Amino acid sequence: MYRSHNCGELRASHINTEITLAGWVQKSRDKGFIVWVDLRDRYGMTQLVFDEERTSKEMMKQAQDLGREFVIQVKGKVIERASKNPNMPTGDIEILVSELTILNEAKLPPFTIEDETDGGEELRMKYRYLDIRRNPVKDSLIFRHKVTQEVRNYLSKEGFIEVETPYLIKSTPEGARDFVVPSRMNEGQFYALPQSPQTFKQLLMVGGMDKYFQIVKCFRDEDLRADRQPEFTQIDCEMAFIDQEDILNAFEGLTRYLLKEINGVEVEKFPRMLYDDAMRIYGNDKPDIRFGMEFGELNEVAQHKEFNVFNSAELVVGIAVPGGNSYTRKEIDKLIDWVRRPQVGALGMVYSRCNDDGSYKSSVDKFYDQDDLAKWAEVTGAKPGDLVCVLSGDTNKVRAQLSALRMEIAERLGLRNPKTFAPLWVMDFPLLEWDEDSERFHAMHHPFTSPKPGQLELLKTNPGDVKANAYDLVLNGNEIGGGSIRIHDKETQALMFDYLGFTPEEAKAQFGFLMDAFEYGAPPHGGLAFGLDRLVAILGGQETIRDFIAFPKNNNGRDVMIDAPAPIDDDQLKELSLKLNLKS
Ligand code: ASP
Repeated sequence: MYRSHNCGELRASHINTEITLAGWVQKSRDKGFIVWVDLRDRYGMTQLVFDEERTSKEMMKQAQDLGREFVIQVKGKVIERASKNPNMPTGDIEILVSELTILNEAKLPPFTIEDETDGGEELRMKYRYLDIRRNPVKDSLIFRHKVTQEVRNYLSKEGFIEVETPYLIKSTPEGARDFVVPSRMNEGQFYALPQSPQTFKQLLMVGGMDKYFQIVKCFRDEDLRADRQPEFTQIDCEMAFIDQEDILNAFEGLTRYLLKEINGVEVEKFPRMLYDDAMRIYGNDKPDIRFGMEFGELNEVAQHKEFNVFNSAELVVGIAVPGGNSYTRKEIDKLIDWVRRPQVGALGMVYSRCNDDGSYKSSVDKFYDQDDLAKWAEVTGAKPGDLVCVLSGDTNKVRAQLSALRMEIAERLGLRNPKTFAPLWVMDFPLLEWDEDSERFHAMHHPFTSPKPGQLELLKTNPGDVKANAYDLVLNGNEIGGGSIRIHDKETQALMFDYLGFTPEEAKAQFGFLMDAFEYGAPPHGGLAFGLDRLVAILGGQETIRDFIAFPKNNNGRDVMIDAPAPIDDDQLKELSLKLNLKS
């Protein structure tokens, strides 16, 4: 028996008990005649004591030589501490050690195993197993486990069945690039790793599983913007014989349950917002509605004056920054610099100060009088003391820019409280999205999403206007889930592929299996998938997902601990019938 107790459980009630503990040396304090050692494991920390009077000379020496992170086992008696530590759950007691065994020595760790460590991100990733010993990472992983368990509990109770689907599959066009795996047994052929189990879960519906879920890894070979991972986890779900309302209710139920169980927060029925409204009011399809600063479109009140910047813009739009009139000129200039950064990309920013006496002072006073500025304030909902910030330009771009500014200001004003949860559904996404590079429409969600009833015809004339039975679940400005009602008949699916530019041959080659299945009695079905990593991070009050992933990759898609990806040797290449043709 390595241990009778763990390092977090001994209390005053255990005094005089003989115990055995095992763990890592957190630190030791050597006063010469007395040595204290903090022993740590996943459960906590317990103080060990060795002293001249009660400890043998040899063991005293052994204790003095213990290094940080040594793995040891001790036997001893629980005694009352002379000076208690109320900040430690085990702070009333210590262990008078009678036997010390070194189970394994340890090199000095490259960073301190403390909550606040001196190790930088890259170093911590290289030695992730040491990083995991730190409370913040360890607790995040335990937290993730708890969330995952609750997801399984809830969905199982609701009659969902967890089914595993394969990882070695064929490319599914979900918008990202596939990771591919060469097949040894099928020369010159490749598997793709799933971007999601989309087609499989639809086939499970054809197979009659009725309610499916899976906590599953998905793989997308994208350029990694901040806080994305090439492999990530979804809570993937699908239901048959349902309409959109059933899906929204089912997964609103799951989210509400998690917020209650994990965060102790009760939320009202989730608001629902049309995609078009989200874009108009927040410039964003995943609006953070924990705070206001809603967009006010100013074309009517700001165009047709002498100010050509506005006259030539497709959209003039502003927000009222609460209390923003207190900003100094310098602070406003800094804000202007901020929106002009390449990451945001605005050309400039016009502003109007709303003075306490009801007057206005703008950066474009030459073109606008007090009545004009009063209208700006009215449209943006600005009150005396606020600052109206106005951007103009191409509609899509300017909305994205003002949305970035809105989020930045909210951050600065402390309006993005991670303990407040504001979920909402964003609904009726466009079915298609114009892709500048290929100059073609692409499915905005994926090609299996059904258009809104009666809109199929519109595909021919105004494809960009067709709306889909697609919905996203948004939490605190993050998309945490998304899904759709699917097409379930072969004709409509063939039509969709056709509109998306697939020839019938291409459609058959790629999706013949799905189209065939639709001919064997496919039930109406739909579903959604949650991004588990992000969901866990947000419930945990954070926005970065890395700490909630045991072994994450860096921004170049590398695992710096195992040093992957890596070359393979010539024999392996030969076996796979692969020849490299590297540029350098
Ligand atoms: N497969 C979709 C995705 O990964 C989710 C869904 O439509 O259920 O985004």
